[in-house]
Amino acid sequence: MTNFVIAPPPQAAIAVSGDSKTFPVRRIWCVGRNYLEHVREMGNDERAPPFFFAKHADMIAPDGATIPYPPITKDFHHEVELVVALKSGGLHISAERALDCVWGYGCGIDLTRRDLQIASRKKEQPWEIGKSFDHSAPCGALAPAATIGHPTKGKIWLSVNGTQKQTGDLSEMIWNVPEIIAKLSMQVELASGDIIMTGTPAGVAALSPGDKIECGIDGIGTLKVTIGEPA
Ligand code: MN
Repeated sequence: MTNFVIAPPPQAAIAVSGDSKTFPVRRIWCVGRNYLEHVREMGNDERAPPFFFAKHADMIAPDGATIPYPPITKDFHHEVELVVALKSGGLHISAERALDCVWGYGCGIDLTRRDLQIASRKKEQPWEIGKSFDHSAPCGALAPAATIGHPTKGKIWLSVNGTQKQTGDLSEMIWNVPEIIAKLSMQVELASGDIIMTGTPAGVAALSPGDKIECGIDGIGTLKVTIGEPA
């Protein structure tokens, strides 16, 4: 047994469909601006390549969670995304070998404090305040690639209180999954337990306490969360 001076924090994990075992999470990486229609709706440069930012592993929230409306924002947005879960990693992974690292896929939401994200962008400050906060990475049960393969197309959608808000198709991603893994592994060493949220299609919008969100990706999975009162 290792000696710690305080009790070690719990291991973050995501449920796996059809399995009582869970997927342990090491790091959460996110891709920014990976669908053209979302780049356009945000008024960003269509020619600029996607890029990466991070959330912390303990910001995962499970399917069915009630997520408290977060502090210090007045513009709290949903971004439905394909989640890629890695079983192995490395530095400088080629796109040709990248899918060998993938354990499975899921549907997640990159919850965003949009007002703070935009304010930090204008001030040339980091994005943490807009992207990295408690419960900001809800994720539905993962489906193993051994069962579903490696989907390259399929509808991705999100509704709020039964009204569809976001819709797109995985085939519209500017960087596909092998390219994302190859690019990200040029800047950090990836490892088993890492997950990547791969960017959101158009239709992002503000949420309020009481909102019921349902989202999914055809052939992969679904996720439901409710927005609660501020903590
Ligand atoms: Mn996003």
